[in-house]
Amino acid sequence: MKMIKNILLFLPFVFCFSGCLPGPETVFKHNFTAMGTFVEIKVYDETGRGAEYVRRAVRSAEDEIRRIERLFSLYDENSDIYRINSRGFERWVEVSPETVEMLEYAKLFCAKTGGAVDAAAGNLFDLWGFGVKGEKAIPSERAIADNLKAAGFKNVVIDRENGRIKLKNRLVKIDLGAIAKGYAVDAVVKKLAESGLENTLVNAGGDVYCAGTNGKDDGWRIGIRNPKDKRALSLSVTVKNKAVVTSGDYENFFLRDGEKYSHIIDPGAGRPVSNDITSVTVIGADARTADALATAVIVAGAEKGIKIVESENAECYIIMETPNGFLERKSKGFDIFTGYDADKKI
Ligand code: ADP
Ligand code: MG
Repeated sequence: MKMIKNILLFLPFVFCFSGCLPGPETVFKHNFTAMGTFVEIKVYDETGRGAEYVRRAVRSAEDEIRRIERLFSLYDENSDIYRINSRGFERWVEVSPETVEMLEYAKLFCAKTGGAVDAAAGNLFDLWGFGVKGEKAIPSERAIADNLKAAGFKNVVIDRENGRIKLKNRLVKIDLGAIAKGYAVDAVVKKLAESGLENTLVNAGGDVYCAGTNGKDDGWRIGIRNPKDKRALSLSVTVKNKAVVTSGDYENFFLRDGEKYSHIIDPGAGRPVSNDITSVTVIGADARTADALATAVIVAGAEKGIKIVESENAECYIIMETPNGFLERKSKGFDIFTGYDADKKI
């Protein structure tokens, strides 16, 4: 299970659910754990419908994230993904239309990124101990070669018409780890909007969507932590109706002989990514795409990564740790969102 993330910090103008009276200035806050991570929902309620109404809407948004977790979980025996992975070899497994859509999206995104983000490489993530099975250890060359050959969407058959999926070999596994959180964030934001709550922030372990405003700024403010100094911000951004997704290598990895093995696997090499990227923040139209793009940048590296991000009309901010210290790279339009608080102590 993934640990609670601390990459994103929210500037302290937010009120909590309990202990404060609802009013036009109030930001309601609700935290819980789902999908193996920390989830935070904030609502700036200008509808004046009151605390009870907002609380109910937020609870049903929480149910939505749990529903998605049950659908895509690698651990829940009843989830669509678990059923595909455990029974799908040469046998059709019926799944929900949502799972078909998700897999088609993942397959398309895989093609768009030249295979950098591949949700059908779950067997490779397992092999290095970052999936459901396996130990965090270096596998044999033979095992890497076998799993490389078996992995990928070429080995997954998606029958959209009949809503069913089949796997072409025993090894290939689906793992939506790089995009499921983003998808869930988008779904929660949609749920809240259906309840008439248009000013919301949803954060699932660093995958954030900011709808409308916090009531004080032209959007919501998000701080991106400085890897040089965990108590400082690298910068902060203000966004409205956009996703801000941060992914980094300083949280989930293992060390062997002084070498760091990241939880992001390069599906082309069958090995953990090894480059100087420490963290990537992507700003995009929706959290699923921003989530997938953040993983893409880590795999493809800064140069290619920025091109991929820009081709999806998104922006990114990359922090790299090089022998000459920390370096930053930004896509062309990123600074539209930044403005203040750089290097501010928190
Ligand atoms: P974070 O945990 O930083 O939010 P990501 O959103 O990038 O990370 O997702 C990491 C997860 O995605 C891994 O735990 C694994 O399940 C899966 N994964 C790792 N490498 C890839 C890859 N190249 N393509 C698709 N999924 C990946
Ligand atoms: Mg991702």
